[in-house]
Amino acid sequence: MSRLLDPRLPTGALADAWRRTKEALPLISPMRKGQIEVLVVGTGLAGASAAATLAEQGYRVKVLSFHDSPRRAHSVAAQGGINAARSVAVDGDSVSRLFADTLKGGDFRAREAGCQRLAEISSGIIDQCVAQGVPFAREYGGSLATRSFGGALVSRTFYARGQTGQQLLYGAYQALMRQVQLARVQLLPRRDVLELITVDGVARGLVTRNLLSGELEVHTARTVLLCTGGYSNVYFLSTNALKSNASAIWRAHRKGALFANPCFTQIHPTCIPSGDAFQSKLTLMSESLRNDGRVWLPQQPGDTRAADAIPEQERDYFLERLYPTYGNMTPRDVASRRARELCNNGRGVGPGGRSVYLDLTDAIQRQGRAAIAERYGNLMTMYERISGEDPYRKPMRIYPAPHYTMGGLWVDYHLMSSIPGLFVLGEANYSEHGANRLGASALMQGLADGYFIAPATVTAWLASTPSAEISSEHPACRDALESTRKRIHALLSSGGHTPVDAFHRELGALMIDRCGISRHAEGLRQGLEQLAALEQRFHAEVRVPADACGPNAELEKALRVSDFFGLAQLMLRDALAREESCGAHFREEHQSADGEAQRDDTNFAHIAAWEHCSDGEPIRHSEPLQFTVLQPSTRSYR
Ligand SMILES: Cc1cc2nc3c(=O)[nH]c(=O)nc-3n(C[C@H](O)[C@H](O)[C@H](O)COP(=O)(O)OP(=O)(O)OC[C@H]3O[C@@H](n4cnc5c(N)ncnc54)[C@H](O)[C@@H]3O)c2cc1C
Repeated sequence: MSRLLDPRLPTGALADAWRRTKEALPLISPMRKGQIEVLVVGTGLAGASAAATLAEQGYRVKVLSFHDSPRRAHSVAAQGGINAARSVAVDGDSVSRLFADTLKGGDFRAREAGCQRLAEISSGIIDQCVAQGVPFAREYGGSLATRSFGGALVSRTFYARGQTGQQLLYGAYQALMRQVQLARVQLLPRRDVLELITVDGVARGLVTRNLLSGELEVHTARTVLLCTGGYSNVYFLSTNALKSNASAIWRAHRKGALFANPCFTQIHPTCIPSGDAFQSKLTLMSESLRNDGRVWLPQQPGDTRAADAIPEQERDYFLERLYPTYGNMTPRDVASRRARELCNNGRGVGPGGRSVYLDLTDAIQRQGRAAIAERYGNLMTMYERISGEDPYRKPMRIYPAPHYTMGGLWVDYHLMSSIPGLFVLGEANYSEHGANRLGASALMQGLADGYFIAPATVTAWLASTPSAEISSEHPACRDALESTRKRIHALLSSGGHTPVDAFHRELGALMIDRCGISRHAEGLRQGLEQLAALEQRFHAEVRVPADACGPNAELEKALRVSDFFGLAQLMLRDALAREESCGAHFREEHQSADGEAQRDDTNFAHIAAWEHCSDGEPIRHSEPLQFTVLQPSTRSYR
């Protein structure tokens, strides 16, 4: 293993490793904490929970986000639920089952110790949120209700209708605003983080652009936490918020933070298919619908009859047929691959044959419309508004779409990146989901990171590395400011005529084609060539109107898209180097006779971590994965 990659894993028995680690971490007196400034970027579930908790501990916390309100963070869109091992359904769930499902769900490409800690902490997250007043769904008798998600045979997903992210975010937001009121948190909205400042290799600050005044600003602190979400928008069309981006983590990568498994991206099986070439965003239909909905296609290719005109015996409930044990609850990567494959074989329905049915008819007949409306009402309304079809009467039409990124900045067990003092939380880091995240586990991970893990490990870092405050006039700050100014100037003076979105759309099409649901070596190589040409055209032909003084939405986009180009290249390289199929990374050359992913544990049981080289090709390091409690097995949901 490279010297850059010490994961600082706990030793001894896994079961109480986190408790032992935490108890051994150094502390800081409450008095001293009040003199220490911490920068947190992002107010999604990871950022808001971390900022509120660090402020509660007594730190002076500065929170930056490009949104006007913390409540607009993309976490607000999460629909289906949050996992926790609490055994409320008395169906045999336990911490060890959640641990095993997570590790297996990620196809054994995550760290055992991290998955174990996540499962252990999960129950405490629910307690914390209930105490904040998050209105989780409840059973008639008052106990918390649960439902099932893919890749699990138990019911462990806690939910608030189809608005779980919104309700959890409001809980974290209240906690954050309480700290704003107490003057321990300074909220700086409408700030785009464009550069990381390092001093002697340690993270000490950020350069931001004030999105209203256009001014470039320097913020310094003793430590920096990036909680900036995922990078699915590299595909242009995704279920993510329009402005979700990779700039903060990409800039940190260029400053020395290793990027782990960038090609591990999740294409979610149940999204509303895109309508036309000018669409700018896709909408998710929560996986929770698969609790009651059945996925099917007509047996005959090219069958154009309306769904209700196709008799039962002429339908193919393909997930139930192929995966009798998990049926419609097979994990996302598997369900997406099967849907795409059948559509490619001419079996798809709807315009262009690019969708499959998600049918709630049986459930409505069995349980009544009111019961279904109570569980999924807002999703049903959303579907009707977008598609113009009533999902209570006609099956929904769905198709896979980019949704979540398991890849992210490499972090150790303490959530610290390879840049000392730079912590990365939530979807922005590479952590416990391996090569495929299970549904309802992202909210669990973001809140575990923010409420429970980072507050302990950030304190330990600060306690063990005393350092003086730095002035914003420090040469490192001036350099970072200057290089950002130059980047902005280059984009503004390109003199081209093509809007940013045109390039972003082309980039997305290239990435979905070359590095989407399935990949192969030749396609990845061609993708790299096409990408280089497209990037060149972008810099020569992009048009960014107006100037950098004041609001300039096109400039914001151009900065993000120019970073996506670098990241896209790393994703293609990573996918090419990983000569195996695992989880969502499906290399066509590596599959079993029945079309399932074929892992290569001899050569690839590791996390790939890429180092940026300013004057050459990126270097691939690897962190070996050890399995002591659960041995890697072939992941089968049949
Ligand atoms: C439609 C949808 C439904 C989902 N449903 C579920 C679900 O039911 N269960 C589940 O577990 N997961 C779900 N997920 C995944 C989950 O919502 C996300 O993984 C999670 O919310 C990410 O949280 P986060 O705090 O890491 O980032 P985010 O919520 O994305 O927050 C990122 C923050 O960083 C800020 N930011 C980013 N870049 C910059 C920058 N350069 N400068 C300044 N600020 C910046 C943003 O302003 C924002 O505040 C869903 C995802 C989608 C897209």
